[in-house]
Amino acid sequence: VKWTEGRGWHDAQLVPYAPLSIDPANMTLHYAQTIFEGLKAYRQPDGAVATFRPDANARRFQYSARRLGMPELPVETFIAACDALVTQDKAWVPASGEESLYLRPFMFATEVGLGVKPANEYLFIVIASPAGAYFPGGVKPVSVWLSEEYVRATPGGTGAAKTGGNYAASLVAQAQAAERGCDQVVWLDAIERRWIEEMGGMNLYFVYGNRVVTPELTGSLLPGITRDSLLTIAADLGYEVAEGRISVEDWKAAAEDGSLTEVFACGTAAVITPVGSVKSTRADWTVGDGQPGEVTMKLRKALLDIQTGAGSDTHGWMHPLG
Ligand code: PMP
Repeated sequence: VKWTEGRGWHDAQLVPYAPLSIDPANMTLHYAQTIFEGLKAYRQPDGAVATFRPDANARRFQYSARRLGMPELPVETFIAACDALVTQDKAWVPASGEESLYLRPFMFATEVGLGVKPANEYLFIVIASPAGAYFPGGVKPVSVWLSEEYVRATPGGTGAAKTGGNYAASLVAQAQAAERGCDQVVWLDAIERRWIEEMGGMNLYFVYGNRVVTPELTGSLLPGITRDSLLTIAADLGYEVAEGRISVEDWKAAAEDGSLTEVFACGTAAVITPVGSVKSTRADWTVGDGQPGEVTMKLRKALLDIQTGAGSDTHGWMHPLG
């Protein structure tokens, strides 16, 4: 779907996947006016296909557009585009279980010019790719590297938007994590480098026995849709749920005195991933016994049951495509 100043959205098309031809002076290539989303379509037990909370992705896409000075795509257009792509060949959606069809809606400036200003022309596209189960050999805890040198986002910046620049800013820290033998980066706040924000592509939850806490939305972390869903699911399952501030010192101290029983990360790609160990320039520590925790696995099952249709969709989160 195209957008042009003065004309609005026009020319929706369903076309075979193919490379795009881009002008070397395309504004996006220079100034990164680009936003994206990620959501999944799951096969249901009756053979039908459904996407998980596409309206939430559509609204976050509108927020990202506003923050990047781009036109907002109507929620219905976002959902209709995803639906049209999936339903043109539902055989694309894997047959069962945790496998899914990952959808990647995105929008970027198509105007040509070297002036730094919001563009007058944009293109919205949805592509898709089948996604296997994230942990085909069983759920395995990840190790994380606390990034103290680099930050992903700053107050007043674009951290709460899903825009390419946030990921560009995080690439060297991801490489540092890999050099230290860690799977993922954990980001701290930019000012004090003390408060836990999120992981490279997932939000975090801390479990203290019966109490689950996730870092509050400060404006510099992404408001994950999985994070939001788990606030509800955890309450449904009878846990005490809170959004709050968790510092690096609190994480280490609570892990060592045993009051912090589990930590997990959550996002569309992996759903829920246990966090087993932490490395930083100051100290290394483990969480629990390094195995996937009971609360983590209960929440993971409850969410996947809704997504795959094995459980009932009590919150009306599934969007059926027939
Ligand atoms: N944080 C970041 C930086 C992400 O890229 C993602 C993935 N979209 C998440 C958190 C989790 O968000 P969601 O649950 O909406 O996938």
